Amino acid sequence: MKILISGGGVAGLTLAYWLHRYGQTPVVVERAARTGVGGYGVDFFGTGYDIAERMGLTAQFQPRRIPADSVVFVDDAGRERARLDRTLVERIVRGPSLPMMHAALEQVLAEAVSDHVEIRHERSISALREHPGGVDVRFVDGAQETFDLLIGADGVHSLTRRLVFGPEPDFARYLGYHMASYPLADEFDLGPVRTHYTAAGRQVVVYRTDVPGQVIALFLFKAPHAGNIPRTERLGRLRTAFAGMGWITQRLLDRAPEDGSIFMDAMSQIVVPTWHRGRVALVGDACGCMTLVSAQGVSMAMAGAYLLAQALHEYGGDHRRAFERYQSRMRPEIVRRQRTARYAARTIVPSNRFAVSAQHSVMRLVMRPAFAPVLRRQFGAGSILAGG
Ligand SMILES: Cc1cc2nc3c(=O)[nH]c(=O)nc-3n(C[C@H](O)[C@H](O)[C@H](O)COP(=O)(O)OP(=O)(O)OC[C@H]3O[C@@H](n4cnc5c(N)ncnc54)[C@H](O)[C@@H]3O)c2cc1C
Repeated sequence: MKILISGGGVAGLTLAYWLHRYGQTPVVVERAARTGVGGYGVDFFGTGYDIAERMGLTAQFQPRRIPADSVVFVDDAGRERARLDRTLVERIVRGPSLPMMHAALEQVLAEAVSDHVEIRHERSISALREHPGGVDVRFVDGAQETFDLLIGADGVHSLTRRLVFGPEPDFARYLGYHMASYPLADEFDLGPVRTHYTAAGRQVVVYRTDVPGQVIALFLFKAPHAGNIPRTERLGRLRTAFAGMGWITQRLLDRAPEDGSIFMDAMSQIVVPTWHRGRVALVGDACGCMTLVSAQGVSMAMAGAYLLAQALHEYGGDHRRAFERYQSRMRPEIVRRQRTARYAARTIVPSNRFAVSAQHSVMRLVMRPAFAPVLRRQFGAGSILAGG
């Protein structure tokens, strides 16, 4: 089958890999000019790692890991209040945990498919029409082409979802925060750790990237509405939201880029009751965004892609049964993790300083090997493919 994948991110590229391996003909359209631009760090473990192993890619990932041996929680003065060591993380997830840049992960996936799969950059669909023989797709440049299936892997703000299933507000569940991030020169000497600093209603996270001498600053702040903040207003919003914060926060803001390149988005989950309609299906954040607090978006995007390709292979040309099978296997896993992430979002940034202090005490208590099984269950971090 000739299958169009809208979106060449983690889900789209993983899907392209497995479809090709099962003898299908995937074509990827990606809005960006090239794969793996900019971004933020992700922790890569569990199901995602398991799938990468099945793709024979873990050796390519290893050299690209970022220096983040532990997660350290500090107070206003930068004093360490709690620490989560990578050895404990690996005990919790029962396997390797690779911190790496999201862009690097995409690059490795793109390299794995580029010899076999057509990836068309700076392309996007604009309209589609389904008929018994396939899906006629029109692209923004006016070109038209017919495919057997269309898969929307175009992320949390999916255009495919909007065109086929309805407007984004019908599916977005706002969790009460905006998030922002940007890279900057490392003048902070924090070491090979990811440092979290939380004050009432706000959190700052800093970690090194895979570019020597560079760090990412990530900000989370509570905001009553999910609306998009225009690029020209982002730095001002950050400065207002983080005014008066201690530690190195003001230095991070003083060095923020002023060219409108700050990433900023509302933290919203995507809840879609049915992930497929006719010859169109969704995968990854497009149908199941859990938000960064789940720390499993990458893993679940890869899992969805893998299981979707497997179902299409298993049911031959019967896409209806394949989509049903994929959804029944994958959606409960997403629903469970979305629930956990919603709970985490309510507690991750306490609303007063006494609660922040209490949070540090609880962390010191539970971030120990004895609690690994409890944390594993709570987090749902094991591979969902174990044995399958
Ligand atoms: C700040 C931040 C931190 C995160 N941290 C973690 C973490 O630690 N661990 C973790 O597992 N997950 C993390 N996540 C979530 C994770 O990045 C996502 O869950 C994951 O990338 C989802 O993959 P995806 O392929 O579905 O979507 P995406 O990675 O968003 O990819 C979608 C692709 O579609 C393309 N696209 C969009 N629209 C169109 C269009 N109209 N036409 C063509 N192409 C289009 C985009 O350019 C992009 O390449 C984080 C997310 C953010 C924002």
